[in-house]
Amino acid sequence: MQAATAIDEPARVQLAFKRDDSGRRVISGTVSCAVSLQCQRCLTSFSNELSGEFALALVYNDEMAKALPAELDPLLLMPDEQLEVAGIVEDELLLSLPMHAMHPEGSCQIETQFGMDEVEQAPERAPSPFDILKDLK
Ligand SMILES: [Zn+2]
Repeated sequence: MQAATAIDEPARVQLAFKRDDSGRRVISGTVSCAVSLQCQRCLTSFSNELSGEFALALVYNDEMAKALPAELDPLLLMPDEQLEVAGIVEDELLLSLPMHAMHPEGSCQIETQFGMDEVEQAPERAPSPFDILKDLK
């Protein structure tokens, strides 16, 4: 998966654990994180703020997962398995990555990458076909 090229700062996470009216164990929260992404248009990296919101219900099998209301996503946990909060946070951040990371319209670095420096350092210009045509007149 094409993912962030670098995490610029630690993710900020807010989590709440509760039991809902049906007795489900629910973890809800928000994650946000500044990351460097590679622009798909000009291929330079830029920094972007990701954020995601989630509500997960702990389930122990597929039946339980299917019975969940639409606003809850299943988090499958084996009975003897430890809940890994870091894994949840990572998943949610990955989910919040844009499909096509790009600079805002017009902010790409593509023009400045081929800047004046390169032109000035270019060796003596080869005669262009137009110069030759001029001589023929
Ligand atoms: Zn760009």
